[in-house]
Amino acid sequence: MKPPIIVVLNQVSVATARQLMTALPGSQLYGLVDRTIDVDVSFTNFGDTLRQLYRDGVPIVGLCAAGILIRTLAPILSNTKTEPPVIAIAADGSAVVPLLGGMTGVNDLAEQIAAALNIRPAITTAGKILFNTVLPDPPAGYRIANPEHVKAFIADLIGGASVSLDGDAPWLTASNLTFCTDGKRTITVTNQAIAGSLEQLVYHPTSLVISIDRPTQFNVARWIEVMIDRFDTANLALAVVACIVIPKTLAGAAIIGIGKSLNLPIRLVDSVEWSQDLTVINQDENLTILSATQPIDPNSIGQPQGKLTVVGTGPGSKQWMSPQVRATILAATDLVGYHTYLDLVKDLSVGKECHGSDNRVELDRSRLALDLAASGKNVVVVSSGDPGIFAMAAAVLEVLDKENKPEWQSIDLQINPGISAMQAAAAEIGAPLGHDFCAISLSDILKPWEVVAARIASAAEADFAIAFYNPISSQRSWQLTAAKEILLKSRSSTTPVILARNLGRSGQEVQVITLGELAPESADMRTVILIGSSQTRLIPRADGSYLVYTPRSY
Ligand code: SAH
Repeated sequence: MKPPIIVVLNQVSVATARQLMTALPGSQLYGLVDRTIDVDVSFTNFGDTLRQLYRDGVPIVGLCAAGILIRTLAPILSNTKTEPPVIAIAADGSAVVPLLGGMTGVNDLAEQIAAALNIRPAITTAGKILFNTVLPDPPAGYRIANPEHVKAFIADLIGGASVSLDGDAPWLTASNLTFCTDGKRTITVTNQAIAGSLEQLVYHPTSLVISIDRPTQFNVARWIEVMIDRFDTANLALAVVACIVIPKTLAGAAIIGIGKSLNLPIRLVDSVEWSQDLTVINQDENLTILSATQPIDPNSIGQPQGKLTVVGTGPGSKQWMSPQVRATILAATDLVGYHTYLDLVKDLSVGKECHGSDNRVELDRSRLALDLAASGKNVVVVSSGDPGIFAMAAAVLEVLDKENKPEWQSIDLQINPGISAMQAAAAEIGAPLGHDFCAISLSDILKPWEVVAARIASAAEADFAIAFYNPISSQRSWQLTAAKEILLKSRSSTTPVILARNLGRSGQEVQVITLGELAPESADMRTVILIGSSQTRLIPRADGSYLVYTPRSY
């Protein structure tokens, strides 16, 4: 379960919140702006904030009336198997009421909170009250095989059906369920592949590990076939696998892909040494299956596979950040990026290690991100706009390509796209990129000016609309004028030009001028410039403004 967010609406609740937060490691305090101080994150809109947290799967603990939480979340209530726990707590800490998330741990969370407040939680889940255990949500080390049957199964038990226990699980024996020898219902705890039914609830203890300890030529699909085949032959359920263990030196893309496809954690080890609690039960030249008598905690073996995602947050405001990028940032342990960009995602970064750096050190930043990921962290490199457009994704890949450290092999590397400045600029003014276009960076720091000049000339001759990134900076002032002169050789001085500055940020300005009017003062390093093609047209509007577009056909 992710650490919960505690939400308070007034300063009186802050003390209670802080008290219960001592029992909830990693939790953060969200407070209503202007009503609370000393909180981790200030929010302005209660409804939007809460609904976003719920959609992000973050457990919510509200120090407010249950009704407010219910009304706020009711319109978006979703799947009970995946929704996050939601708990209401009286502002003075006198009542703890689990509202949602019976299948995802709300009752345990409520008990934890109530213990910190020295009270009893108001638990309403019938199974929990009667049996003192939550059958849909078994403790760590057990996976339920047939969650689709659990509701009816519990209803039958509440209705008085007798139940037997087949297999061994201390959490079931310690519950208030009364087991008999010949029950009408059975709870089976087994590593065998049994589907379960309305009469039989099946739990798999995660008591096996798969070890792959020699190099392989298999691709992901072949590996999965091999594994499924092996488990089928032994009639073992894949759900009993706690994790797949691989030496760091062997952890290439294929092996990493298996974990993802089978939804099993991968653990990386320096060398394979097994404790005496594990016995080999099945082995061939490809893999070894080891078994323990008790469920295995994957976190006790080696380190997790590291993850590195390069995300683009869009040009500025939050509304341009994709839900995927938001979720990726929320799940990260470490954020790497230019200080200014990290500041833009401040409210998502509480509790994370932030490695801010100067704008000019892209390659150092990439190395740092790769090294952190190789050590098992979940690292996000934060870029503005789209990460693949004049930004960090290429920098990370360049370092990976040229320096190629063996320990970087095992990293799960992803890129999450974002809206680029040229798209945001175009959308603000109409559709100037509606036909063929290209993007050119006017910076000659990473490439010689001759290359830039030749590209501008070719693009102008080919009649592309052009987006100019990095048009000017304090060290580079003449390039924009040089670019304009090249353009004027094959494009009219009346060509529409869009200057878009600070898109999505405070001080946003979008202006239409002509190519003849373009001057160095027109732009700064926070401006993206769109140059129309010979076909780009202006539509005057009643208020004196213009829409700009490039038709789709000639
Ligand atoms: N990856 C970014 C581009 C980074 S290069 C993207 O896809 O948008 C930096 C240049 O992008 C700036 O010099 C400017 O030309 C443009 N840019 C980035 N953010 C901008 C914004 N909010 N408003 C206008 N231009 C922006």
